[in-house]
Amino acid sequence: MADSSAERTYVMIKPDGVARGLIGDVISRFENKGLQLVAMKLVQVTPEHAEKHYEDLKSKPFFAGLVEFITSGPVCAMVWKGPNAVRIGRLLVGATNPAEAAVGTVRGDLAADISRNIVHASDAVESANHEIALWFKDEEITSWDLPAAQWICE
Ligand code: UDP
Ligand code: MG
Repeated sequence: MADSSAERTYVMIKPDGVARGLIGDVISRFENKGLQLVAMKLVQVTPEHAEKHYEDLKSKPFFAGLVEFITSGPVCAMVWKGPNAVRIGRLLVGATNPAEAAVGTVRGDLAADISRNIVHASDAVESANHEIALWFKDEEITSWDLPAAQWICE
């Protein structure tokens, strides 16, 4: 097997999700799907760091508001690992606009407005690797065996 189980994605519960007490709900969805949590921390984000994370959106009209929002309270930064972790992370999170996100997804179930959509998940393997490096030092990322792994992928 190509080791797709080693794929990793960066997932972040934004200040609205933390403030609304939704950390556990979001984590449960990822755990229940079969992904493995390998790193996690609460971070009070600086504007400089937020601007780096959302660098590709710099020219958007909502950029300043987005940076202000992301720095308004702690975020829960995580790395999840598993087969197709990036694609599965995006599926669990749902469409950017909660008004279009399917029921059953984090945004479809728990959010109502595009600027308060609770969670971030990397959109490609390349951006995942970039974001993981931006948010975590190598030594903050654990290496452990998920006992149920044999029941989740062949
Ligand atoms: N966003 C916003 N207004 C918009 C579009 C995006 O406030 O019209 C915010 C929203 O929080 C979104 C984030 O900017 O999650 C990043 O936008 P992107 O298009 O990358 O969506 P995502 O990858 O988060 O689904
Ligand atoms: Mg994005």
